[in-house]
Amino acid sequence: MGFNNLSGFIIFAAALNAVCSGINEFMSKYQTLLYYCYTTIQNAEQFAADHLKFCKSLGLTGRIIVADEGLNGTVSGSPEACQAYMDAVMADERFAKTEFKIDNVDEPSFVKMHVRYKSEIVHSGLRDPQIINPNERTGKHLEPVDFLAMKDRDDVVILDVRSNYEHSLGKFKNAITLDIENFRDFPDKINELAQYKDKKILTYCTGGIKCEKASALLLHEGFEDVYQLHGGIIKYGKEAGGEDFEGKCYVFDNRLAVDVNSVNPTTISACRNCGKTTDKMINCANPECNEHFTQCEECGTQMEGCCSAECQTHPRKRVYDGTGYYVKVPQPVNVKKVKVANVQM
Ligand SMILES: [Zn+2]
Ligand SMILES: [Zn+2]
Repeated sequence: MGFNNLSGFIIFAAALNAVCSGINEFMSKYQTLLYYCYTTIQNAEQFAADHLKFCKSLGLTGRIIVADEGLNGTVSGSPEACQAYMDAVMADERFAKTEFKIDNVDEPSFVKMHVRYKSEIVHSGLRDPQIINPNERTGKHLEPVDFLAMKDRDDVVILDVRSNYEHSLGKFKNAITLDIENFRDFPDKINELAQYKDKKILTYCTGGIKCEKASALLLHEGFEDVYQLHGGIIKYGKEAGGEDFEGKCYVFDNRLAVDVNSVNPTTISACRNCGKTTDKMINCANPECNEHFTQCEECGTQMEGCCSAECQTHPRKRVYDGTGYYVKVPQPVNVKKVKVANVQM
């Protein structure tokens, strides 16, 4: 087979490229799924127990929260197991509108499989469905390309509803951030936003789940023109190239942080210890501290993955393997000398 003109070759090359990227996609060793669904689950505690068995039967690992108000999860496994999981969830009419964000990964993003029943699928303290019910009233969903088109307008304010350790690692250019350690502190910060009541508020978070409640609360508090980034930063990275997202996105699995911006990427975070620019996110090796923070490779080695000299001398300090990610091992309480067996990724 030969090509006697250039355009013929280009078409062939393009076709070959398409086939190869298709194969790459197919050959990805594992996938990690991020999803949520606000829906009513009866007997949610029993559902959680059954769902755990089901996930284990598929060989998945991950963390799922089940509440009366819905489902919130990140699971990881082979592409076949992930597909079987998605098919089963979507086949259940309660969860038919669930959207899965799929990442290809080299290794599973978790070691174990947990399904836990909690009072809310994301802890906000806003659990009265009479007041805040995203299924009934929430901010208008903006697709990533529409968010991109709208975000720089003069009558728009971009609001990051995530916590300090998340927005210090990465955030949208010009976004307003809140000084909160946990999403449950969000309602207390609403008063600080009163000056923006006449603006269009565009909220965003990691995968969209927090915005469902945050934007609902803003509407409840009298903000009139409220929007939310549908699918969060993760979907924005996939569909809008992550443009103008500065830094990395914190995620709640062993990757700790993922790249978002393939258009104009920057690093906005600095090493806690020496101030050098770095986007390496770790958890402090002292399990009682476990703070999420950014630390450069050199300081990581020197301080054994600890945030401070104090943590470095802690008797239960975990072995730092360079990742700064630790599997949660239940710890005995009030035991003086504990030999911590770290199961690490
Ligand atoms: Zn450093
Ligand atoms: Zn620490």
